[in-house]
Amino acid sequence: MSDTTKYLLSEERIPKFWYNIAADLPKPLAPVLHPGTGQPIGPDDLAPLFPMALIAQEVSAEREIEIPGPVRDVYRLWRPAPLYRARRLEAALDTPAKIYYKYEGVSPSGSHKPNTAVAQAFYNKEEGTKRLSTETGAGQWGSSLAFAAGLFGLEVDVYMVKISFQQKPYRRALMEAYGARCVASPSSETESGRAILAEHPDSTGSLGIAISEAVEVAAKNDDTKYSLGSVLNHVLLHQTVIGQEAMEQMDMAGDDPDVVIGCAGGGSNFAGLAFPYIGEQLRGGKTRRVVAVEPAACPTLTKGTFAYDFGDTAHLTPLVKMHTLGSTFVPEGIHAGGLRYHGMSPIVSHLKELGLIEAEAYHQTECFAAGIQFARTEGIIPAPESTHAVRAAIAEAEKCKAEGKSRVILFNLSGHGHFDMQAYTDYFAGILRDTAYDEKALAEAMAVLPPVAAE
Ligand SMILES: *Cc1c(COP(=O)(O)O)cnc(C)c1O
Repeated sequence: MSDTTKYLLSEERIPKFWYNIAADLPKPLAPVLHPGTGQPIGPDDLAPLFPMALIAQEVSAEREIEIPGPVRDVYRLWRPAPLYRARRLEAALDTPAKIYYKYEGVSPSGSHKPNTAVAQAFYNKEEGTKRLSTETGAGQWGSSLAFAAGLFGLEVDVYMVKISFQQKPYRRALMEAYGARCVASPSSETESGRAILAEHPDSTGSLGIAISEAVEVAAKNDDTKYSLGSVLNHVLLHQTVIGQEAMEQMDMAGDDPDVVIGCAGGGSNFAGLAFPYIGEQLRGGKTRRVVAVEPAACPTLTKGTFAYDFGDTAHLTPLVKMHTLGSTFVPEGIHAGGLRYHGMSPIVSHLKELGLIEAEAYHQTECFAAGIQFARTEGIIPAPESTHAVRAAIAEAEKCKAEGKSRVILFNLSGHGHFDMQAYTDYFAGILRDTAYDEKALAEAMAVLPPVAAE
């Protein structure tokens, strides 16, 4: 057996702790505020929505948080996830750069999302929750939570953004196969959904709207809690198994990344790979370039404002300080549904403000072109979201070639695109458009940001 095979089979290699970057931040995060009082919220304010264990993680300053045994037992189904060197892509690009990627598509639902879905299902089960309500964009999160909650005997109601519900019928089938109920959002099941439908009967939906529906259901039902697949501190925390494994695997490969890249919708897979590296830097270790990549049609980090805003469209959530396009902004219906969110994780936003990370935005057709080059060299069809990271990694490798420099590039391939082939079909048919965000709609959304006194 080769060392690599032994490594891959060794469950001891699954991290025993999640890494909490809050412990190493040079400046603390801005507090989360109650939308009514404008005062910082406490654990009790969140109790109707989340189990206490997750609320504690949300505000924890402990550097290492132990991963419960039953969660590691489930991780064992696909972790450690492989790290590959993209030698054929390097050759095709004729670049002196070395390109490595961490592949999260080996999970049951095909993305990084089960890393947190399993943890959230576990803590909910422990605290007596019967049903979880959630939203999903492209369907990756809904299917991940459906899978995880099924293992722990919980029911799941998924509000799926309508455009994805129509574009991705197999994702819905996957959710149902794992035992969840899937509803197109905006729906007539909730007050938030009915309000949107009354005003915009043809609404294609958005993550912000779907979140309102799922939060409303949890708030109104004692046995139901809400579950979010990105953005929140505890979600990013759970994803840090990615970066911890990658650090060890890069050591085994005898290389160390100069540039770390991830696509960013709400920021969780990016954070999962990057935070363990940034943490090392914050504790006095090596400085690396860390790049978050987003769609030009939903440019939260590159064009958004760092301000207090709601996480949803109906304004049911607390106010968090983050890069935002405004909670009423509805991005174009691009195929990378998982990157179509008006906000960004508060921690990722904070790191951007501190100059610890960079952000880049690309249009979807150049990302699909990169995804196809990746598929034709490395064999894996990337999820539409992940093609943004591929695009940025290729740009970096091309820059190395132009400069005659050999740098080590590491990116996160957050998922495979097997359920997204309609997107590739549309790309080949030449019907994908590169719409920039609507500047007028953005200005209107920014004009109605909640008024919050400067801290
Ligand atoms: C959901 C998703 C994303 C975007 O979410 P983040 O929280 O920003 O990671 C990216 N890639 C894939 C494959 C996804 O499913």
